[in-house]
Amino acid sequence: MFSNKAEFKAVFLQKLEMTFGTSFGESTKREQFQTLGHMIREYVSSDWIQTNEQYRSTGKKQVYYLSIEFLLGRLLRHNLMNLGIETVVMEGLQELGIDLEDLEEIEADAGLGNGGLGRLAACFLDSLASLNLPGHGCGIRYKHGLFEQKIVDGYQVELPEQWLRHGHVWEVRKSDDSIEIPFWGKVESYQENGKLMFRHLQAETVTAVPYDLPVIGYQTETVNTLRLWSAEPSRFTANTDILRYKKETESISELLYPDDTHDEGKILRLKQQYLLVAASLQSIVSSYKKQKRSLLEFHQFVGIHINDTHPALAVPELMRILMDEEGLGWNEAWYITVNTLSYTNHTTLSEALEKWPMRIFQPLLPRIYMIIEEINERFCQELWEKYPGDWGHIESMAILAHGEVRMAPLAIVGSHSVNGVASLHTEILKEREMNAYYQVFPERFNNKTNGITHRRWLIKSNPKLTNLITDSIGPKWIEDTENLENLLAFRKDQAFLTELGDIKKANKEKLAKIIHEKSGILVDTNSIFDVQVKRLHAYKRQLLNVLHIMYLYNRLKTDPGYSLYPRTFIFGAKASPGYYFAKKVIKLINTVADKVNHDPDVNDRLKVVFLENYRVSLAEDIFPAAEVSQQISTASKEASGTGNMKFMMNGALTVGTLDGANVEITELVGEENIFLFGLRAQEVLNFQKNGGYNSREYYHYDTRIREVTEQLVNGFFPDTEGEFTAIYDSLLNHNDQYFVLRDFASYVQIQEQVSEAYRDRSKWLEKSLVNIAKSGYFSSDRTIQEYANNIWKIKPIK
Ligand SMILES: *Cc1c(COP(=O)(O)O)cnc(C)c1O
Repeated sequence: MFSNKAEFKAVFLQKLEMTFGTSFGESTKREQFQTLGHMIREYVSSDWIQTNEQYRSTGKKQVYYLSIEFLLGRLLRHNLMNLGIETVVMEGLQELGIDLEDLEEIEADAGLGNGGLGRLAACFLDSLASLNLPGHGCGIRYKHGLFEQKIVDGYQVELPEQWLRHGHVWEVRKSDDSIEIPFWGKVESYQENGKLMFRHLQAETVTAVPYDLPVIGYQTETVNTLRLWSAEPSRFTANTDILRYKKETESISELLYPDDTHDEGKILRLKQQYLLVAASLQSIVSSYKKQKRSLLEFHQFVGIHINDTHPALAVPELMRILMDEEGLGWNEAWYITVNTLSYTNHTTLSEALEKWPMRIFQPLLPRIYMIIEEINERFCQELWEKYPGDWGHIESMAILAHGEVRMAPLAIVGSHSVNGVASLHTEILKEREMNAYYQVFPERFNNKTNGITHRRWLIKSNPKLTNLITDSIGPKWIEDTENLENLLAFRKDQAFLTELGDIKKANKEKLAKIIHEKSGILVDTNSIFDVQVKRLHAYKRQLLNVLHIMYLYNRLKTDPGYSLYPRTFIFGAKASPGYYFAKKVIKLINTVADKVNHDPDVNDRLKVVFLENYRVSLAEDIFPAAEVSQQISTASKEASGTGNMKFMMNGALTVGTLDGANVEITELVGEENIFLFGLRAQEVLNFQKNGGYNSREYYHYDTRIREVTEQLVNGFFPDTEGEFTAIYDSLLNHNDQYFVLRDFASYVQIQEQVSEAYRDRSKWLEKSLVNIAKSGYFSSDRTIQEYANNIWKIKPIK
């Protein structure tokens, strides 16, 4: 299509004129962006076809990664980079007077996810394609991604997100591959050739229409597919109230649930889950059948992975397809189902475990419910043989109990593999949360520590650091990130360390500009950039961070001898719209920011910034500029975290609890290269078993705690009467469930050590280097290789 700048320019101009009927001189940035997008899609189309052809003809095992979220972000620069045409395109555009960076800004983030879970799915797709592995994604094409956040008077305001307003250049609608999905209605049994069969009658049918996105591997010819389903009205529905039906149908793929921990308990959410599962599985089975293989071998050629329990209906749906549509018996179908499916658990927070009331579930999905009943009955029978007479124990493990369908037990019973996402998390699953199932299926449990794609989170977002690394140790690390360890040879190399510091400084200046543009705040780029960006949640403890800032402020105001190393605290976080406490913490951060930033007594040493609308594209500007990474969850509550890995790979030092993947970061870098504080997971779990700790004691004995907590309610912040009562109460009247006050003193102390360490510049840079050098383990290539070898048993093509 084009192999040099001149050809690129010619094709680009011709395409622009043909598509938009406008001359180049008259064209808008959006038209230029769309033209480039279409060109790239055409550029990959032959590799895309070829890859699919190869999967078909070689008959290798393929994996499908089912996820209710894919937090992709922007794709333009990433695709150009992976295709290896970034330079040609950038220079070609330059000669036309177009800045590639300006075109990038036109692209809306595909924000089809809330946070870590959805971003993990996106990183995994990149690693699968880059490792030439036959693995595809299946998700939902939400019309509106995660809401857009504005901060007004310090409060979060949510606006509907509109990523499809101008279409999505990367997608291809495949209406011929649409699937009919039945809801409601009734199930009838009948006899056929002496066999009991079932059919679903009077259903309200919805059409699931697939949109395919190419997933382009890094400088390989592999192009995998992300298939996103959209719900549309069906021509076959039994429904008569057409307007209501149309509205209800379209609402299924209208909205991403803006909540990543609690269950919304809505029919709509269950419809989304079934639509994703039923459409994906039927399309997978139908493409398998084209290969003319026996269904009895299905699990040898297809793996289906469920990302958390949202797609756990894959268990009964695959059973339904194999039995009702393909005529297999229960035992055959069950063997194939279990051996096809594998499941990742993402949380131990019990309030986040999905459960559906039977009274909603049964009428909406009558056949699926029947199958779950049978799975449950057979599972309980098995338990009865293992624990005869112990009804209490069996009931606690059952899939159906107390009027509810429990999704985690369904996923565990119906999968051959259950994995946690960091070693501590997997241990907690095995020893505590899921111990009962571990006793029954010990061989199913395994750990796969999360990862991030270094292609987006280092090569693309931090080109200066990328160049320094490659200039120092050669390019081998790009293919195998373990080679980053070769950087350790430069630990004492002052020239290298100076350059590392200069790069960080340049990235800080870039971020400082963005901060100034977005919030009007001027920050000192010589101050320490101390960053906490992630979803806002009580267990992640943004509150601990902000109470510490209040303490620093108080100290600066009252202790003239106190010399604080200048620090800029940067926050980014969305709160679920219905999460009252989280929204109050956002208001508190902004209130503290207002006070601190406007007080000339302190604002040369202390600044607080809340960056609104945290999302992938903003994150790409933040991580390269960060020096301190705040990973301060209550120990045992963060399953893994992946933000922690992005910071580390960009040379920030972690201030953290021994939680999630922080444990593995510590093992890799050594305790001298991380700032650990606070209770350990075991201590938190023990406290919880024995009814918590007494937060009031800490209030009484620590004057710093007394002062900052009283300031929440005593008028210290003007015009905020009653505003922070809920926060105050959570700490002092509801016994501080997340141990904020318990860890406060330890946190203050470790932050003092951070300031101290920062004063020795070359020592700090050496620590930063060690973090980068050891971050190779956290490439999602390593994670995906482990899934491929140990769970999916898939091999690369070619
Ligand atoms: C990585 C990432 C997350 C996850 O961050 P954690 O600190 O692991 O919770 C959330 N949102 C975005 C936009 C991300 O890039």
